[in-house]
Amino acid sequence: MNQYDSNRIYDLVDKIDYQKTNNLKDVNCYVLNTCHIREKATEKVYHDVGRIKKEFKNKKKPIVIVTGCVAQAEGEILLNREKYIDAVVGPQSYHKLNQTIIDIERKNKKINSTQFNVVEKFDNLNITKNSDSNVSSFLTIQEGCNKFCKFCVVPYTRGPEFSRSIDELINETLNLVKNGTREINLLGQNVNAYCYNGKRLSHLIEEISKIDKIKRIRYTTSHPIDFSEDLIEAHKKVTKLMPLIHLPVQSGSDKILKKMNRKHSIKYYLDLIKKLKLVNSRIEFSSDFIIGYPGETDQDFLNTIKLLKEIGYINTYSFIFSPRPGTPAAKMKKIDDYVSKERLFSFQKLAHEIKMKYRKNLLNKKSLVMFENSMNNKNLFFGRDEFSNSVIVESTENLRGKIREVEIVDVNQGTLFGKILENKNKKEFAA
Ligand code: SF4
Repeated sequence: MNQYDSNRIYDLVDKIDYQKTNNLKDVNCYVLNTCHIREKATEKVYHDVGRIKKEFKNKKKPIVIVTGCVAQAEGEILLNREKYIDAVVGPQSYHKLNQTIIDIERKNKKINSTQFNVVEKFDNLNITKNSDSNVSSFLTIQEGCNKFCKFCVVPYTRGPEFSRSIDELINETLNLVKNGTREINLLGQNVNAYCYNGKRLSHLIEEISKIDKIKRIRYTTSHPIDFSEDLIEAHKKVTKLMPLIHLPVQSGSDKILKKMNRKHSIKYYLDLIKKLKLVNSRIEFSSDFIIGYPGETDQDFLNTIKLLKEIGYINTYSFIFSPRPGTPAAKMKKIDDYVSKERLFSFQKLAHEIKMKYRKNLLNKKSLVMFENSMNNKNLFFGRDEFSNSVIVESTENLRGKIREVEIVDVNQGTLFGKILENKNKKEFAA
């Protein structure tokens, strides 16, 4: 979502004559767009500001603005502690960024803009064209969260659940299509909680699938509890909907899920996976895990391992529990660091084995790959298969934006390597 936000920030500042640059040694304004999910996010901000200070020691000071969830959660502290920062702008106040920059230029004053005004934000962003021209583009459809998992800062930094209107999302998609987008990634902190005037995510997916030039649709991140029957059905009906579902579970233990306030049991989660497999047996899953959550015993951890084996996730994102300031879990007693590290190690080892087994199984098989861009060597093209696996092939034809059938000839942990299969249906022609 921060990547989407950063792109929209570039679109916004264009209106006040700022343009994106990759020359970081010579800029007029720095925006540090931050994420508060991981540990040490605030330290990273101070570190980055220190780097900028050093770079501009003998030059005119650039405007420095911190945006994103760290700005929202710790804005006042940042402004007080680091004088080099001119403004903090929370994720629901991006529409005020241009005025903030103008005010700093004119009045040279410090600004804290961290109100939750998500309606005003999207009203303003809607009149600014999305200039993203990637083959695969992000589209934020929903923000915020009402779930209050005990370890998570999102409800405090992004605010309550908010869904954008179907019309504005279709308009933005059509605009992206004009720019060259062929795959759309629908984003939300709780993407399947999307609901606008009674219309749910499945409805939006169906509407977007009617746009001819959109060939693929993905969405992330889902909460198991919001997986409604109509969304399950969409995986049967909408062929453009890709068969990889990111379905965070966090733990395989009912006791820990309860302590996390995740609002579902493992049985519910397994039943949901069964239902999805029933409507489309090709569906694969990826998930997020927190290892060493307060109160996690050996048995709880073994239950997580059991779940990992049972589902056979093709991708997992696992981290040791780290307390986020201001969340209820931050006050809970942490378990021994050494135990957490040992558990994370054995979890990741097994997750890797499962992933590599899945990937090796793809060898000599066919996949449909949508190509996103050429690589440094102009004859190499990068794309993704239906399960979001990165694929590289060699081709003299410009494959950008095209879908081709590929045979996988080699695999490693991060990439599949393939060769384009000839289209056997081509008619013969002689000249
Ligand atoms: S559902 Fe997701 S975003 Fe919401 S509180 Fe839980 S982890 Fe955070």
